[in-house]
Order: sequence, then structure tokens, then C-alpha cells
Amino acid sequence: MATLFISDLHIDATSPEITQQFLTLLEEEARGAEALYILGDLFESWVGDDAPDAAQTAAIAGIRSLTAAGVPCFVMHGNRDFLLGSRFCALSGAHILSDPVIVTLYGEPVLAMHGDALCTDDRAYQRLRATVRDPGWQGQFLALSVAGRRALAGAARAGSQAHTAAMENNITDVNAASVALVLRAAAVATLLHGHTHRPAIHALSVDGRACTRIVLGDWHTQGSLLRWDRNGPELVSLPR
Ligand code: MN
Repeated sequence: MATLFISDLHIDATSPEITQQFLTLLEEEARGAEALYILGDLFESWVGDDAPDAAQTAAIAGIRSLTAAGVPCFVMHGNRDFLLGSRFCALSGAHILSDPVIVTLYGEPVLAMHGDALCTDDRAYQRLRATVRDPGWQGQFLALSVAGRRALAGAARAGSQAHTAAMENNITDVNAASVALVLRAAAVATLLHGHTHRPAIHALSVDGRACTRIVLGDWHTQGSLLRWDRNGPELVSLPR
């Protein structure tokens, strides 16, 4: 049996093919898995547990079927869906993971993150991240009407797209020193994250120690899946 990892599906009602492929994964391969981990950005936007769209509601029902069948599902906040909360957990049967978290896979400790916290060259984004992850800010935001929250989130996304387009490509990738820092602090040899949409398995050295950084892919034009069993990790793309 394998443990499955995915991230960056960015599900909403505008991309039904992504929702359908996710539901198929839940109904088929995930049913035989030890656990499913979703390392952030399951949803394209999440303004609160009281405002899912039809595609997101279908995705939650799919996760509920999986967890009801006895397969645990763990969900990490991404930069798009960091407001996933207790009602989402109650409806889906999933558990929220903190970021970062150490997951022990077949004896190997693995540091799992969404990945946005590693993009430290993008200082403007890190300031925004600190603001919107603050519980006080989140409480004020969630007190607004759904329409008000949607309007603010739409404006933030438009600003984010303009900002990303204006940045050099390498700036929005992870910062090598930040990667070394988290591996050193966690005292593990393997880092697993998504967010950058650059699926790969990288070998690196931290303080002379051989380490591995595994990057999950996004689901924009195909699915992307990491299977991890007692033989180790296997990163695959899932044709649509
Ligand atoms: Mn992300």
C-alpha cells in the first residue's frame, strides 16, 4: 500500500475537468491507499467554510466518501485556501495539518510544507502572508459578508497575478538558503512541498549531508501525484 500526496489542484467551478479528475482519484487509487495528503491549494480560492462553490462542494463530498471508507485524509493550508476551517473538516472528514509538519513514511521522517513560505526572495508576498495568516486579520475578514469577502479575494488575486507576472521566474521559486534552513531546523533529510508548480525530485547537500527536495506538480493541464511506499517515492503525472 502507498501513501499519496497531491497539491495545487486549484479547484473551482471554472475547471470542471480538474474536479472530475480529483473525484476519480478519490474513487479509484486513493481507496486502496494508506492515506491521502493534500499539501495546499486544493481550492483556487476559499473565503470561508460557509461559501464553497458547486465544484468545491462536490470535492468535499468526494473526500467525505474516502474518509468514510476508512482512508484518512490530511489537508494543509495553501496560499489560496488558508481559511479552510473546522466546518470543512466536519463536512469532509479530513484533518488540517500544520505547515510545516513532519510525516514519518515507512521509517523516514519527511518535512512537508505547502512551499510558499520557502519563496523568501519575494518579500512583498511574505509580508502579505504574515498579514493574512494572522488570526486577528482572519477574524475580521470572516466577519464580512460572503459578497464582501469574494470582492476582496478577487482584488487580491488580480494584484497577485500582476505581481507574479512582473517578477523574474527564479524569484518566485524557493530560496536555496530557506530550504537549507528548514531541513537543518527539522533535522531531516527530505523535504516535500508544492506551490511552485515545478514537479521534480532534487538532490542537494545541507552541511555536507545528502538531502532530497521533492516538489509536487499542479493539476492545471494534468494530474500530478506522489506515491510513497516501502520502496520509496515515485512522482508521476496523471494524463487527463
Ligand atoms: Mn500555492
